[in-house]
Amino acid sequence: MSELQKSWVDSANSAETDFPLNNLPYGVFSVGDEDARCGVAIGDMILDVALLEQESLITLDTAPVLNQPYWNDLMELGPEKWAELRTRLIALLKEDGDAALSGNAALKNSALIPMDSADLHMPLVVSEYTDFYAGRHHAVNVGTMFRGAENALPPNWLHIPIGYNGRASSVVVSGTDIRRPWGQLKGPNDQLPRFAPSMRFDIELEMGAIVGTSSDRPITVAEADANIFGYVLLNDWSARDIQAWEYQPLGPFQAKATATSISPWIVTAAALAPFRCDTPERDFELLDHLKDDGPMLFDIDLSVTLTPEGGQTSEIASTNYNVMYYSAAQQLAHHTTSGCPMNVGDLLGSGTISGPEKNNRGSLLELSWGGKEPFTLSDGTVRSFIENGDTLTLMGSATGDGYRVGFGVCTGKVLPAAKSPYAT
Ligand code: CA
Repeated sequence: MSELQKSWVDSANSAETDFPLNNLPYGVFSVGDEDARCGVAIGDMILDVALLEQESLITLDTAPVLNQPYWNDLMELGPEKWAELRTRLIALLKEDGDAALSGNAALKNSALIPMDSADLHMPLVVSEYTDFYAGRHHAVNVGTMFRGAENALPPNWLHIPIGYNGRASSVVVSGTDIRRPWGQLKGPNDQLPRFAPSMRFDIELEMGAIVGTSSDRPITVAEADANIFGYVLLNDWSARDIQAWEYQPLGPFQAKATATSISPWIVTAAALAPFRCDTPERDFELLDHLKDDGPMLFDIDLSVTLTPEGGQTSEIASTNYNVMYYSAAQQLAHHTTSGCPMNVGDLLGSGTISGPEKNNRGSLLELSWGGKEPFTLSDGTVRSFIENGDTLTLMGSATGDGYRVGFGVCTGKVLPAAKSPYAT
């Protein structure tokens, strides 16, 4: 197991921080009215890397790339520059490293910003967004509820990573309030559909993979793995009642288009390297274009909390990314098989991550078994789906020896539906 790398930023050496020197995740921040720009989390501080680039402590290209409110420009420079930046950041921040920053009191003072005084923004421009369905326990649970236990897994599921094209425009950063959507609903006993606010609004606990290198041809799983820049937590907000009526035969549409929240820090594939693990045993041998030749999943503990308006926070689920049937690399490789071009900033949702036990379920749909088995929060109230005023928070971290590589939080509060947009 890999060990904590010590930094002269004291708070980065705590076993309790998500952001030790081993992590160095990439975000976009601002303080007050300043322009948003690239920053790196270290302990409870943000390192203003746009300032370090301006002061020539970091040089990546002839023109600055870190003074932008997104990391896409760095991604465009390619994997060699990604590695160069990480090496340079470690040198500047490690104990007894390069003193260009640690030995310059004035620069240190202006370049290290307390995280709790900053606003965090979307860390990238999401060029396109695809959501997959690669969690076997989730697929079996949902399939059982929607189609019965015998047809739970669709016949294609064990052979291809199933996905649908989502909406990049709907992706928002953690902390953004989520408005309960309106939609067309029809229960199994209703004769006709009606237009109403969703009554079965839900989360999906997922990981998001960010494509950092574009491609315009079919690529291998190994190439796909190398093209992934980093990972975020992702909550695919889902209106189950809208979904149940609209999804056949083309898949989810408006049920998934309200919002998708992501955590504000991109944890790089480099930071996650010590936590790689294998995909599970296969029921059927995968076709060659989906075969992996090394560990491309990650051992990342995940959890979800629910906080009612003014109430106590309850953990409602905990699981691990390592249960997924397909890695993000396999999903990305599959995505390219048709010749589909992939772009820098493409976001791939993993699919809901549920484990084998009841408390490992990554959606309220599963936790309450379609509303038939409401679950109890720590204050004694029960939930089947999200109530107005509820805050749902995803957390995730990989555990090393005396440290963790964390993602921060991916949180969102659900507001009541707006007044009817079509009032007569
Ligand atoms: Ca999903």
